[in-house]
Amino acid sequence: MESTEIAVRSVRTVGEKTIALELESPPKFEAQPGQFVQVRGELDGEKITRHYTLSSPDTDGTFEITVGVDPEGDLSPWLAELESGDIVEVDGPFGRSYYEGEESVVVLAGGPGVGPAVGIAERAIADGGEAMVIYRDDEPAHEGRLRELETAGATVVITNEPLTDNDAVTDALSRAEGQVFVYGFADFIEAANEALMSTGHDSDDSKSENFG
Ligand SMILES: Cc1cc2nc3c(=O)[nH]c(=O)nc-3n(C[C@H](O)[C@H](O)[C@H](O)COP(=O)(O)OP(=O)(O)OC[C@H]3O[C@@H](n4cnc5c(N)ncnc54)[C@H](O)[C@@H]3O)c2cc1C
Repeated sequence: MESTEIAVRSVRTVGEKTIALELESPPKFEAQPGQFVQVRGELDGEKITRHYTLSSPDTDGTFEITVGVDPEGDLSPWLAELESGDIVEVDGPFGRSYYEGEESVVVLAGGPGVGPAVGIAERAIADGGEAMVIYRDDEPAHEGRLRELETAGATVVITNEPLTDNDAVTDALSRAEGQVFVYGFADFIEAANEALMSTGHDSDDSKSENFG
């Protein structure tokens, strides 16, 4: 898809300072959970672009992005004010760290990284696979979808503590098998890689996306 204007279908609050934007998929738009799009907004006459990762399991009809709203930020508060029917400009999809039909997925997510975590886990379960989500946040978002994933057989660990020296995380990672994905801001990626290494995983094998 090349710089396309698309309609917002809905904007939902899915956690403290976190929204999920459902956007209409343009014709022939295909993307996998974990890939990201570039969203462009115009604020005070200035065009601003930021990247957001797919948080829906597929792009059939619509797709979703999950945005952590930084009140001091430029684009995220603007996105939070959008309403159904508004138009946004989107490019993409981009990225190489996405779900490719792996039978077993292990997703480590920090903050808004929970978006790709739920998208990938839902898709893996729908495809008959297995999923584990390890999610660090002081104020967790997407709790309903995480509970549904657990009911569907996924392992879900939610923590507000650092990932290292964290018994629940260490226990889960020690028995985790499959493709590891890591999504979040730089400090989370670093902590996740440390937790992976200390539980016998090679972080070079992870599919990882640094949010900045
Ligand atoms: C490949 C990629 C994928 C991304 N996917 C997502 C996504 O799915 N959801 C999402 O919410 N964001 C995602 N981001 C980050 C997003 O593009 C913006 O940087 C973010 O929304 C802040 O934009 P802003 O204009 O509101 O704030 P800005 O005006 O850019 O200022 C905010 C500053 O703080 C940083 N920042 C904001 N929150 C945090 C945090 N919790 N920890 C550390 N630094 C922080 C930003 O990187 C930026 O430097 C992604 C970034 C990249 C590069």
